[in-house]
Amino acid sequence: MGIHKTLSTLMAAGVIGSATLGLVGCGGSHAAEPMGAARGLLKSQAPAFYRMQLGDYELTALSDGTVLLPLDQMMSNITPAEVRALLTAGFEAHPTETSINAFLVNTGSKLLLIDAGAGTLFGTSGGRLIDNLKAAGYDPDEIDAVLLTHLHGDHSGGLTVDGKRVFPNAVVYVDKADRDYRFDPQAEAAAPANQKNMFPQSRAALMPYEAAGKVALFQGAGELFPGVETIPAHGHTPGHTLFHVESRGEKIVFFADLVHVAAVQLPQPQATINFDANESAAAADRLGMLEKFADDRTLVAAAHIAFPGLGHVRSDKAGGFQWIPRYYSLQGLTR
Ligand SMILES: [Zn+2]
Repeated sequence: MGIHKTLSTLMAAGVIGSATLGLVGCGGSHAAEPMGAARGLLKSQAPAFYRMQLGDYELTALSDGTVLLPLDQMMSNITPAEVRALLTAGFEAHPTETSINAFLVNTGSKLLLIDAGAGTLFGTSGGRLIDNLKAAGYDPDEIDAVLLTHLHGDHSGGLTVDGKRVFPNAVVYVDKADRDYRFDPQAEAAAPANQKNMFPQSRAALMPYEAAGKVALFQGAGELFPGVETIPAHGHTPGHTLFHVESRGEKIVFFADLVHVAAVQLPQPQATINFDANESAAAADRLGMLEKFADDRTLVAAAHIAFPGLGHVRSDKAGGFQWIPRYYSLQGLTR
């Protein structure tokens, strides 16, 4: 079949139109729309959600965006030169592009959102959670509960935008110690300068839910829903909490801010970040829990390891750990 026959056959069938072929406008008043590479670079990223099965539950990792952090100026118990060397060894730039990840758990009877992203607090670096939630097939008003790992802007800022609840039907679960800390004027006065703005931000995120009777406070370890348990790790903030989720014997731990920067804090778990409320307790939490997750081969979900932040930690035999990301999978996903 010759090229003219092929084209006319396809055009007759409506598969391609004359505009597609750039025929309209040739010699006319309208220039043809550019095609393919001539349209220029698209400069957009794919919707950022990643789904997996966990027993009878379905998990969806959701990106809220990424933020550039000058980590060599933000860490303690390690020198800036050591931070830069570890970042370079991990093929990371500095400032370092750091993911902000949230996670959705569909238990079959409840839709649980673990953390709510930054909302408008981080400008264009954050606030993509809702678009990605919608791309993943859900609307904010379908969320039954938001489980907060802690009240920092990149985890709770997305709860409320312009004073309005983004998740109008959700109950917000947060550790009482984190909630009370952010409403304590003495704690606010005593906080270091770089942490002071977190207090009004946290209150603004939570207050519309409190006014609506939609906040549930928990304390330390316990069970929130069948198969969903809290694990206190109160170094990073006074109520910083990990969530252990289990279905049909399959387990995952959402480990929140146990690790902010994998390239530095996995090989050097003692390295802390300067918005830890209690740096030595945060380092002890990290070392102890990473050892347990490595020994138990626990699947973990991290708020700040590169999206989707799902993987395992493995001992590096030198007192540190390595990150083994979960590979792309279609297992259990039939559509
Ligand atoms: Zn964080």
